[in-house]
Amino acid sequence: MSHAIRADKFLLDADRTTWHDETLWFVREKRDRAVYAVPEFQELRELASGIKNHTLSRLDLYLQEFEAAAKANGVHVHWAADAAEHNAIILDITRKAGATRIVKSKSMLTEECHLNPFLIQHGIEVVDTDLGERIIQFRDEPPSHIVLPAIHLKKEDVGDTFHTHLGTDKGENDPQRLTEAARQHLRAKFLAGEVAISGVNFAIAETGAVVVCTNEGNADLGVNLARVHIAAMGIEKIIPRLSDLGVFTRLLARSATGQPVTTYTSHFAKPAPGKEMHIVIVDNGRTQQLGRPDFRASLKCIRCGACMNTCPVYRRSGGHSYDFTVPGPIGAILSPNIDMKKHSSLPFASTLCGSCTDVCPVKIDIHTQLYKWRQVLGEANEIPASKKWGMKFMGRVLASTRVYGLGGQFARKALRLLPHGLTHAPSMNAWAVARELPEAPKQSFREWYAKQPAPAAPSKTSA
Ligand code: SF4
Repeated sequence: MSHAIRADKFLLDADRTTWHDETLWFVREKRDRAVYAVPEFQELRELASGIKNHTLSRLDLYLQEFEAAAKANGVHVHWAADAAEHNAIILDITRKAGATRIVKSKSMLTEECHLNPFLIQHGIEVVDTDLGERIIQFRDEPPSHIVLPAIHLKKEDVGDTFHTHLGTDKGENDPQRLTEAARQHLRAKFLAGEVAISGVNFAIAETGAVVVCTNEGNADLGVNLARVHIAAMGIEKIIPRLSDLGVFTRLLARSATGQPVTTYTSHFAKPAPGKEMHIVIVDNGRTQQLGRPDFRASLKCIRCGACMNTCPVYRRSGGHSYDFTVPGPIGAILSPNIDMKKHSSLPFASTLCGSCTDVCPVKIDIHTQLYKWRQVLGEANEIPASKKWGMKFMGRVLASTRVYGLGGQFARKALRLLPHGLTHAPSMNAWAVARELPEAPKQSFREWYAKQPAPAAPSKTSA
């Protein structure tokens, strides 16, 4: 199913669409204020981009350095080529630990690998401890945003969900009371957790430590209470030195939510006495993307979500319309790498306005890559025939002044003569559903220009 068809579903609820659009724009504005408060922000972006480019060009070396340092710290390091291996490794660690209860802090990689259903299917209880993640876990939905996983839901939706799953009063929508109910519920889960899974925001090759950024402190509580910590990281999370970290932590929270820094930036380097720490390093299609010169820069992404918050298409179509773990502009670049056929409509879900590229803290040329994907998909015959032939036809029209002129003449006449009900029929002109078409001009610009008096010749005395 194409992105446009899935987006149609979201657009059926006009009030929700407007609210979603305005809420994310509010976050985008907060981001702007936080960014403009740092005079050297553009230099930080340049630096971050340079560090990531450098790291990607020596990824194998830095990963090996990281593995050696982590092992020297007493950490077990595992390598997973794909999602199936990642899931099998985590199940194996959990079984060897004799555990059946896992607490998990937010990790897009585990979402990408569909870890939760896999573990549940094998008799393991998995509790997402990030509040937004827990809400959508109750509702059996995927996240719709990488930083704000439940942003598609209103407080009334959360109230209904908590009434069903946590027994809060029916109609209770007060955010403070709902949060308190979640806190009590999660505290019991934290105390019972035997294994804690976390994501990884940054992995430092020099020290072998991983860094996890959260606003709720749920990763810290989970890891410190459980006997076994499993950190799941994509191979692109590596940065070379501890001294590089500050560049990224200054960019991440500002770009994501407009905060100066995330509330908790926790470093996990080695297991506490009597405990275990495991790191699972996952490829799952990343080396394939690394091998595509036009798209490798997408691996610089630090998952701040800024490109989603600013994207006019994402804000109005909702994250679920992308049907991929990472939605929005960056997801539309990453997804065809995984499955070109399934995600062929996503690079077209963009106005190519370039706003995503403007806000990206690591300077990924997002809109250029979206444009390039369109060409790759066209050449691979992965676009609908209507689009392909429509584009071919438009190419012919635009290449000929005469045909273009005739087409304009025809369109101006037709727009004046056809009834409003036809020119604005939703089935024929989706654009005009919420807009009025401008009145068709009587003549083209070319015709108007030809009637203008010739400009006066410059006088000889003027210098
Ligand atoms: S592509 Fe850039 S803006 Fe988008 S999530 Fe990644 S780092 Fe943030």
